[in-house]
Amino acid sequence: MRVGLTGGIASGKSTVSAILRDLGAVVVDADLIAREVVERGTPGLAAVVEAFGDQVLTPEGDLDRAALGAVVFADPDARRRLESIVHPLVHQRGAELEAAAPAGALVVHDIPLLAEGDRAGSFDEVVVVDVPTEVQVERMVRDRGWTREEAEARIAAQAGREERLAIATRVLDNTGTPEELRRAVEELHAELAARP
Ligand code: ADP
Repeated sequence: MRVGLTGGIASGKSTVSAILRDLGAVVVDADLIAREVVERGTPGLAAVVEAFGDQVLTPEGDLDRAALGAVVFADPDARRRLESIVHPLVHQRGAELEAAAPAGALVVHDIPLLAEGDRAGSFDEVVVVDVPTEVQVERMVRDRGWTREEAEARIAAQAGREERLAIATRVLDNTGTPEELRRAVEELHAELAARP
């Protein structure tokens, strides 16, 4: 059983992912992998430097995310070039981790931008952690110290709530308490883990 898990920023996706891992699911974390494939000394980082030059490296030789962000932010072609380097590497590593999972494991691919890409159709189930936009803003302000404006700008840069719900086969409502979320995740896990 292969599950895609997504949710807007501060929806509670990482919380859900951690609960699923606790319950025994094998979680493949796309954000984590995206950092690993461009660590110092990787072919991924070499390819990024070949495309964008030494200016995207720190003096220590690590990827300078702020510098790279500045290059691709205003240039859609550069962004596509970067994605064409990083996405296949992330995909390949995700497939390797999945192949290493025990037989019959519930494999959960935690992918923040699942609704923005074209991978949703490749999963048996797509779980979307859902809250109204206002709740996302409140949690970003309360827990992460963002200003309202920063939170709203960040949310606007992602797919909207309706676009995410459009790819969902399961919706986890996270407007209740953390305990209610845990119970809902436990129920979902029990059901999905029982399927072949
Ligand atoms: P995401 O991974 O979607 O960005 P997180 O799982 O990190 O979101 O959750 C965002 C913030 O909201 C965290 O500080 C988390 O503890 C908090 N949070 C998650 N679920 C709830 C909830 N049901 N009630 C209150 N706060 C929550």
